[in-house]
Amino acid sequence: MSTIAAVSTPHAEGGIAVIRISGTNALTIADRVFRSPHGKIPSQMKGYTCAYGSAVRDHVPLDEVVLTVFRAPHSYTGEDVAEISCHGGIYVSREILRAVLDAGASPAEAGEFTRRAFQNGKLSLTQAEAVMDVISADSARELAFARSLHEGAVFRRIRSIIDRIVNVLGALAAWADYPEDDIPEVEPDALRKSLTDIRTALEETISTSDYGRIIKDGVSAVIIGRPNVGKSTLFNLLSGCQRSIVTDIAGTTRDVVEERVRLGDVTLRLWDTAGLRETEDVIEQIGVNIARERLEQADLVLAVFDGAAPLCEEDMELLRQLEGRAERQVIAIVNKMDCGEGTSLESLRERFACCIPMSAKDGDGLERLREAIEERFYKGDVTPEMGILANERQLRCAQAARESVQQALEALDCGELLDAITVLLDEAAEHLMNLTGERVSEKVMEDVFTRFCVGK
Ligand code: GDP
Ligand code: MG
Repeated sequence: MSTIAAVSTPHAEGGIAVIRISGTNALTIADRVFRSPHGKIPSQMKGYTCAYGSAVRDHVPLDEVVLTVFRAPHSYTGEDVAEISCHGGIYVSREILRAVLDAGASPAEAGEFTRRAFQNGKLSLTQAEAVMDVISADSARELAFARSLHEGAVFRRIRSIIDRIVNVLGALAAWADYPEDDIPEVEPDALRKSLTDIRTALEETISTSDYGRIIKDGVSAVIIGRPNVGKSTLFNLLSGCQRSIVTDIAGTTRDVVEERVRLGDVTLRLWDTAGLRETEDVIEQIGVNIARERLEQADLVLAVFDGAAPLCEEDMELLRQLEGRAERQVIAIVNKMDCGEGTSLESLRERFACCIPMSAKDGDGLERLREAIEERFYKGDVTPEMGILANERQLRCAQAARESVQQALEALDCGELLDAITVLLDEAAEHLMNLTGERVSEKVMEDVFTRFCVGK
């Protein structure tokens, strides 16, 4: 495999920049660009050692550097690696990279070092994915989940499900291949139980992915309601700044305003919207349409009503739009309670499982709102070590596997041959191995075979 090189630090000025070289010729290439005052030669250095010297191009010194040597397989990529730390300038680091490329390396593509780490078995696919999550984490909780992913939590969770599938396949294969041996017949009931358990394990895994997304991206929450009920006031209260313009003129908010807001232990991606109403104002109408779209996509709807006024036709229209939404996805805010209790509070209490009287203007009721949101979206009992699916790709693989197991169960119920069930279970294992990045069907067969031999 070719030797690759890139500047691994950001394209910006800083204290230090690192040029990373990885591949079979990494150390001989380093020999050509590194001069040590003590005569140290990278290709003769031991792994995990470093040397001080200068980086040179065409015998001209470019900068004072420290060169670190990693020897295969004890490096990030699993290959020989040299890392050159120079002063953190954009120009100087580019020049050193150029010298390295002149000396025989090819430019690394995006993510190529990590890809090699994966190909060389240093990381599973989910661990490789976690590298990016660690880099992009911006809260303690997000980092904890990324670290668990990196440390193999998802891999282990999926691997244990694969092991269970492989066990079933082993039993099926043993029975099919050696019917004359005294191997117990595969009992349909026992088989059904194993498959149902596997399906449950997959469903539990799939259900974690929502939470994974919420930790990473935050809860998307849309504030909705007719004009003038205090949506922008609530938005400003939650975001802690005067982000959205508040007036008593209906139709003030015409756009959708977005802010990332931390409320207790939950991060909200909060959207303030134009009030839902038909309007002559072209811009406002676009805002109203966007608000409707956001209403569809949101994890949480904060439906705001004016508690001092009776429900009007526009409120009723909103109630109709919210029909059929899961209870946990909607919180009714009965605002302006500082003006006294109107007739709407009681009827809203009848309609919504969660109904919070508030005064967005004074901040009253904020604590109850925080509690209600945390209760819905902060799962203290979900810990990173459980293995929470971290992205769409992982989710799709898990769903495909679940589908195959479901089909296997249906095939069993229809009295199909065990062969058909074997094929479907093979498929399920294959989807999961796609998830972890292990090789597909061949590996399943190998696993089956190994297990089968043990104990026989
Ligand atoms: P929006 O159209 O739903 O975004 O409503 P705004 O946030 O722009 O508020 C409309 C009017 O209601 C403004 O005059 C606010 O000051 C007022 N308002 C908002 N919340 C409260 C509240 O809790 N109590 C009272 N008395 N007035 C409020
Ligand atoms: Mg507004």
